[in-house]
Amino acid sequence: MRRIFNFSAGPAILPVPVLEEASRGVLEIGGSGMSILEVSHRGKHYDAIHAEAQANLLQVLGLSPDAYAVALLGGGASLQFTMLPMNFLEAGQTADYVDTGEWSAKALKEAKRYGTAHVAGTSKETNYDRIPKQLAFSGPGARYAHITTNNTIEGTQWHALPDVGGVPLTADMSSDIFAVRRDFSRFGLFYAGAQKNAGPAGVTMVVVRRDFLETAKADLPPMLSYKVQTEKESLFNTPPVFAIYVLNLVLKWVTGEGGIAGMEARNRDKAAILYNALDAAPDFYQPTVADKADRSLMNVTWRLADESLTEEFMAEAKKREMDGLKGHRNVGGFRASIYNAFPLEGVQALAEFLKDFARRKG
Ligand SMILES: *Cc1c(COP(=O)(O)O)cnc(C)c1O
Repeated sequence: MRRIFNFSAGPAILPVPVLEEASRGVLEIGGSGMSILEVSHRGKHYDAIHAEAQANLLQVLGLSPDAYAVALLGGGASLQFTMLPMNFLEAGQTADYVDTGEWSAKALKEAKRYGTAHVAGTSKETNYDRIPKQLAFSGPGARYAHITTNNTIEGTQWHALPDVGGVPLTADMSSDIFAVRRDFSRFGLFYAGAQKNAGPAGVTMVVVRRDFLETAKADLPPMLSYKVQTEKESLFNTPPVFAIYVLNLVLKWVTGEGGIAGMEARNRDKAAILYNALDAAPDFYQPTVADKADRSLMNVTWRLADESLTEEFMAEAKKREMDGLKGHRNVGGFRASIYNAFPLEGVQALAEFLKDFARRKG
């Protein structure tokens, strides 16, 4: 198996042992004589995987099933932009949103369909190059507050959670779930599409505190109701079986590698290697994040001071078997996504290339 260094922002790299086991599962699952792609979602082979994935998810996050419910849904994080306000926000009510990037803005836009979405802070005026420091939450009257823990496109990350005035904190964790330790018990609800840091595209994890869930609307189409989806344990209809199977393999891999604490230690080392390489040539490379304290451990973004070298940089990266480094069109420049499964050697190779290219062209 040939493996290049895949810096894609998502769908993104998966651990090799997970790919190996999943490839066996595609042929036959658990002595069943059937592929994971062929078994019934209500049969015993899949049943065990489904229950295990939900239990492993809470275990990795350090949450108790008595306090938190899980839903494993289709539709991506983008559907959660809609489901969250649909379930919890009504006309005449307010939810607070911190607007830190393209994805946050999409979440905010959906909330406006259902009630008052108050912008508690934004860095839009500086093209989302930082986590805003001026935050004005509505206080206890708000229904919930929403943040995006890691801004995949812009390369910023919340390294401490904001004080949201005692209302349920909710979050889109699509690009840093399982990557850094957080006090997950502070959240009323959080969600993450699997395809950045946790598995293949097709499944989205939703974790919701049971007392917050109690307050969700009941009169909704069942597929869009957190109450129905959690009561039916994500088996109201056919769940994304294969994606959940791989998610469970990733959860077992995370546990075997020291859990979230183990992931975070390695993620900090990897990110430091890249940021140090960029900071060593400040006249040549320009990190796009204004405040070093906001830099993401997952998505490292920068531009070349001399943008005319962009094509050359890309061509040389390709020769070194590095792919997926082109920055998002809203930010420009480059982005190296170095999620949990991304190997240290790939980060070292990119840092080496950054230094070498700056030496030759600077
Ligand atoms: C990728 C991403 C999304 C969109 O996810 P889909 O699963 O494609 O809907 C939302 N939020 C963040 C932070 C992301 O990185």
